Amino acid sequence: MKPRIIGVLAILTLSISATAMPVSAAVKVGAKCKVVGQIKAKNSKEFICIAKGKKLVWSKDKTVKKVVPQVTPTPTPTTAQASFSFKYNIDKSVPKDYAIKFRDTMKILGEVIPIDSKIGENAEISKESGNPFMNIYVAREGANAWPVTVTRHGENCICGNGRETWMNLTLYNYDIESNNVSFLDGLVAHEYFHVYQKSLSKDVLRPKWLTEGTATAISDLYTNQYYGQWDLEWKIQNDSSKFIFTNPKLFEKFESSEEDSTGKAMDSNYGSSVFMVLALVKELQKQGISEQRAFEMVFKDFWVENAQLPQFIELDGGNEKNAVDWQKTFKSLFKMDVKTFYAHLQSEYSLTDYKADYKKVLPSKSLKIQDIFVSK
Ligand SMILES: [Zn+2]
Repeated sequence: MKPRIIGVLAILTLSISATAMPVSAAVKVGAKCKVVGQIKAKNSKEFICIAKGKKLVWSKDKTVKKVVPQVTPTPTPTTAQASFSFKYNIDKSVPKDYAIKFRDTMKILGEVIPIDSKIGENAEISKESGNPFMNIYVAREGANAWPVTVTRHGENCICGNGRETWMNLTLYNYDIESNNVSFLDGLVAHEYFHVYQKSLSKDVLRPKWLTEGTATAISDLYTNQYYGQWDLEWKIQNDSSKFIFTNPKLFEKFESSEEDSTGKAMDSNYGSSVFMVLALVKELQKQGISEQRAFEMVFKDFWVENAQLPQFIELDGGNEKNAVDWQKTFKSLFKMDVKTFYAHLQSEYSLTDYKADYKKVLPSKSLKIQDIFVSK
């Protein structure tokens, strides 16, 4: 068994769902919002737009609480046979057809993006007879389905309390009413991809734009492959920020999902992060690398190589997070330093007024997810 870092502090990973939504005004509890299900982060708190009677309002503060970890248990040695599985907890508030669909989606994701059983080496992953597993809680918005201590109602996240990590999924009334079946699928693919990242990266999800940009791209690649639709153009056009070009470092930390001084969201629906990720893929293709291989490098190899580096704790938006010197991985893997990439963002992918040139970064519609992740 490899030596482990003992006493790594508890981390709560914030994962915000990636629906395409317009930007609305000031975000605070009770203030009006425009689109149900929209999630916004401000001062390290998350707000979600919910329907209250006939009004749409931002719901209560979802402050991410840092949990003091208990004594770290001796990790169960993993064996070559250990296999990872999800445990489904689907509340009765979820309509039957959505529950069936959810299971189908998870089955497909398990086949096209297999979770590495090394995930069991993370102390916060639960085990049963040596086999790592993760609970998934799915409930309809507003349902009083699970104990508050277990899940965070109304949120979509990979949540943790320092001892256990689980996936929380909320099915919004709006999506059921508008029969937006692919919404849940895109969301599931987004959160699932964070579990995949964890399985490869020893829990280091840094920087933010690569963490969230890749998960967001996967949700769109998924809905494109299985439903023939994606929202990439929309997300980039409506939700990307000029700071991608003027101050890209801002997107290295999760706190950049918050608003800038003019009140405009900087990374709503991860429109900025996904643009940066897709531009990186294009930069690799300019080096003569195939599109499929460029995706594999950014979406898979980067996380594997980051896991080789020593970890430290970094403060981000008031939360402590595991970090590594990811710029090192970036440089050795992508054969360019981060600074050069940021400079290229502005010189190659910016339109007038610092608008993101989305046409230059869109992937091929024929790209299949399994071509990226399933070893040939
Ligand atoms: Zn996320």
